[in-house]
Amino acid sequence: MERSTIVRVHEGLHARPATRFVKLAKGFESDVELVKDGKAVSAKSSVKLMLLAVKENQEVTVRANGADAIEALEALIGYLENPRAGLDDEAEAQSPANDAGQEAAPAPGSAPAAPDGANRLRGVAASEGFAIGPAFAHFPPDIAGQGRMLQAEEIEGEIDRFRMAVGAVQARMDHALAQDSLSAGDRGIVAALRDIAADDSLTGEAEGLIKGGNDAVSAVITAASTIAAEFSAVDDHYLNARADDVHAVGRQICLVLLGQDDFSLENIPEGAILIADNIGAWDLARAPLKRIGGVVCGHGGATSHIAIIARSHGIPAVLGLGGQVNALRTAQDVALDGNAGHVIIDPDEATRADFAGRVEAAAKERAGLTIFKTVTPKLADGRIIEVAANIGSLEEIEAALEAGAMGIGLFRTELLFMRHMHLPSEDMQAETYTALAKAFAPYPVIVRTLDIGGDKPIAGIEFPDEENPFLGWRGIRMCLDRPDIFKRQLRALLRAAVHGNIKVMLPMVSDISEVRQTRVLVDECTAELKAEGVPHASFDLGVMIETPAAVLIAAALAKEVAFFSIGTNDLTQYIMAADRLNPTVAKLNDVTNPAVMSAIEMTAKAGVAAGIMVGMCGEAAGRPDLIATFVKMGLTELSMSPASIQRAKKAIMAMAAEG
Ligand code: PEP
Ligand code: MG
Repeated sequence: MERSTIVRVHEGLHARPATRFVKLAKGFESDVELVKDGKAVSAKSSVKLMLLAVKENQEVTVRANGADAIEALEALIGYLENPRAGLDDEAEAQSPANDAGQEAAPAPGSAPAAPDGANRLRGVAASEGFAIGPAFAHFPPDIAGQGRMLQAEEIEGEIDRFRMAVGAVQARMDHALAQDSLSAGDRGIVAALRDIAADDSLTGEAEGLIKGGNDAVSAVITAASTIAAEFSAVDDHYLNARADDVHAVGRQICLVLLGQDDFSLENIPEGAILIADNIGAWDLARAPLKRIGGVVCGHGGATSHIAIIARSHGIPAVLGLGGQVNALRTAQDVALDGNAGHVIIDPDEATRADFAGRVEAAAKERAGLTIFKTVTPKLADGRIIEVAANIGSLEEIEAALEAGAMGIGLFRTELLFMRHMHLPSEDMQAETYTALAKAFAPYPVIVRTLDIGGDKPIAGIEFPDEENPFLGWRGIRMCLDRPDIFKRQLRALLRAAVHGNIKVMLPMVSDISEVRQTRVLVDECTAELKAEGVPHASFDLGVMIETPAAVLIAAALAKEVAFFSIGTNDLTQYIMAADRLNPTVAKLNDVTNPAVMSAIEMTAKAGVAAGIMVGMCGEAAGRPDLIATFVKMGLTELSMSPASIQRAKKAIMAMAAEG
C-alpha cells in the first residue's frame, strides 16, 4: 500500500525531522519505506532517510506493508504534509538551530589553501574575532582496527561487546543531554549525534562486518567510513558536514571497545588556541568552552558543527586548513584572525603586540558596554529612541536579544529565498515571521518584503539580463510584477501579525503607485484569508527611503504610510551615483557627504511633519559619530547589526546627558 505527497518539511528531511519521521515510523509494526526518484529506503533509519536527501516541496511516496499499514501511511503522510502539527515549541527549538543556521553561513571550503608565508596559513574564516594564545595541539592518535579475523565461536561474543559499547556511547550522550548547562544550540547538535549512534545504519553495517569475521573496532571504522563517504557524496553542504559526525560517533564507540579514555579537552589552559586536524562536535560541545581562546582545524567549513558551536560561543575560528594544520603541531603560540581566515604560527613581537592590542581593545569595549544592554535610551525631552537589530535569519535572534535589541528594525527576507532551491512556501514564511514576532513582542519586528534583483538571482524567479541590475528589476518592482510570489509573502505576514507586533516595509520604492498597488494586494490577501477562515491581523505598512525619488516625494509618501526607514546603504549609492560594491569609487560612497546628509534631513523633516515614525536601517544607523546628528534630525528608531547595539545606546545616553 502506498501514497505519494509533496514534502512540506522546512528544509526537507535533514537531521532532526528525519529522526522525528523515524520515531513515528517505528511506532508501527508494518515495514515502511520512503521512495524518492525510484529509490526506496527504510523509513525506520534516520541515516538512510537523510542520505535520500529529500528536500522541501519534492514529491515522495510512502510505502507500508503490514497489519497497521493504513495507520502508518496516514501518520507519516500527515507528518510530511504538516510537520509542525502536534509539536510543541520546545521540541522545535531543539532542532539544531532549526538546522537552517548551518545553511545560513557562507559556503565552506572556498579559501585558498596556499600559505601566505613561512609562518602564515590561510583557511576558512568560520567564526569572527581575533585571538592569540598558547597552542593546545589536539591530535589524538588514529584508532586502528586489530585486523584480526575472528574464529566462528568468537563472533557472538564480539557482537555483544559491540552492542554494549554502542549502549555506553548512547548513555553518555543521553547524560550530556540531561545537563542543564548545555545550551539549546549545542543540545540540538549532541542530539543529532546521539541519533546517529542509535541508528541501525551504522550499527547494522558494523554488525554485518563482525558477522563476516571482522573484529569490532575494524568493523566500526569501516562502517563509519562507508556511511561518511555517502554523506560526503550528497550534493548538499549540510549533509556533507554530517560525515564528520559519523566519524565522531564511530570513534566514540571504538574508544569504549578499546577501554580507552578519549583525549580530553578538560585541561586546556585559559585562553589557549585549540589546534586539531578534526574535532568532533561532541568533543567541542562538552569542552570548557569559556577557556578556549580560538579554534584552528584541518577539517570543517563554515557550515560544520564546529563552526556553529564556535560562532554561538563567540570563539574565533579558522577551519578547513587541510594538511597545513600539521605545521601547527609543534607551535608554541598561535595568533588567529577569524574575520580573514588567517593563522600565524609563533608570531613575532610586533604581530604579538598587534593581536594582543586588538583582543584587549575588543574585550575592554565589550565589557564596558554590557551595562547598556537593558538601557532604554531616552532623550532629555522624554523621547525614547528605539535601538533595534538588523537580522536575516532566525538563528540571529539570540544574538539580538543578548545585545539588548528593542525589536527588529530590518528583517532581510532575501536569505529565506536564497537558501532554498525553490521559493519558500507561505507556511514556512508564516512560521518564520511568527517566530520573530513572538521572540520580540511587544517590540516591533519590521519585516522587509523581498528585495532581490538581477545581481542576486534566486531559484524560482527568472531575471532578465540587465546592463545595470542596481537600476533594474529589483525590490518592489519585481514583487509587483510577480503577485504570485508577493502575495504569498504578504499572506504569511498577515498570518504572523496575529502573534506579535509585525510591521512591513517595502524596499526600493520610487513612486507612490508602488505603495498603492501593494495596499490593493494586502487587501486582496486579507479578504482571501478571511474567506478561508485563516487567523490573520493587520500590520503597519512603511517604506524604505533609499532612492532619491523617494526623498523628493517624501511628503506625499508620508501621507500614505505608517513609517519611514532610511536605507543609507542604497541611498548613498544612488544619491552619489557611486556603486556600493565598487572599491574604485569607495571615496564617493560616503554617507557623510553633504548631499546624502541633506537627503536624510529632508526625509526626516517630511516624516516628522506628517507625524509618522522615521527610522534608519542602513549601516550608518550604528555609527556612534553620526547618531546624535540623526536623532537631532528627528529619527526615533535606529536599527543595526546586534554587535553595534550597546555602543549605539551609549552614544544616545551621552547625548541625553549633554541635554
Ligand atoms: C540599505 O540600503 O541601506 C539597506 C538597509 O538595505 P540593503 O543593505 O539590504 O540594501
Ligand atoms: Mg537597500
